[in-house]
Amino acid sequence: MNPLPPLAFCLSPLDRAEDIRRDAQALAALEKHNGAHALLFLNGDPALDGRALLRRPFSETATMARINAPVLLGLEDGNPLYAVELDPEAALPGGVEITDTRSAAMQLAIGETGILAQARSLIEWRRRHRFCANCGTPTLELEAGRKRACPSCATEHFPRVDPVVIMLVVKDDWCLLGRQQPWPPRMWSALAGFMEPGETIAAACAREIWEEAGIRTDPDSTRVVADQPWPFASSLMIGLIIEAVSVGITIDRHELEEARWFSRDEVRSMLAGTHPDFDLPPKIAIARRLLEVWAA
Ligand SMILES: [Zn+2]
Repeated sequence: MNPLPPLAFCLSPLDRAEDIRRDAQALAALEKHNGAHALLFLNGDPALDGRALLRRPFSETATMARINAPVLLGLEDGNPLYAVELDPEAALPGGVEITDTRSAAMQLAIGETGILAQARSLIEWRRRHRFCANCGTPTLELEAGRKRACPSCATEHFPRVDPVVIMLVVKDDWCLLGRQQPWPPRMWSALAGFMEPGETIAAACAREIWEEAGIRTDPDSTRVVADQPWPFASSLMIGLIIEAVSVGITIDRHELEEARWFSRDEVRSMLAGTHPDFDLPPKIAIARRLLEVWAA
């Protein structure tokens, strides 16, 4: 059997230019580099060019209606690549069309999705962290968008990554799936939740499954199957399979609308898109990957 293809958002060809970021002169020179290009974003969503992100010469973006400073994403074959935010109040530049990030992830080549994850997460982090969390003063942007600092109390702020456990609970030939009220009608997926401070991955899994479905699991059976950056806004999805030691379900109605056990055959028909009643999340979702691994 062929190995499963990489998940969306998981591969990026960029060199993140760590050695240049602390050198203000080198950063200024990069902006004048002949090969410098920029990706264009509006409200965190990208402009596309077919299966690629739209790249415009960086010098061209100086005449566009931009907000905030450009973010240096890294070097692409030695050429600097930036993310530029367009002003939502202004008309789009000619030839530019914006696609929402989820749709973009489904149509872009895999390496482009990794660049998109990095760019969108940095843009969102900047939007949500304009003030110092320690003293409330507006922060300054440093290192071409990779860091912020407070001019009042000198606290440094770095982009957040929020770990989320997403787990397929299994018992013999059955797995547990749930659905949330806002989801599309037929869709079911694996249970998931944010990790809490002071928790191991295994402890977070066991807690989430107990809270949401009232099922006890064997922490020693926890197996990480895949992980995935998820730029809504900046999560890291940690995909696991874990064995249940009880099967009776008690749903937390604040979290789930329904939860039930599905047989492996049912999951196979859902993956094939032939189940008469139920669907699974799209191919870009790590939940689907967990089910592909288990069903195989
Ligand atoms: Zn401060």
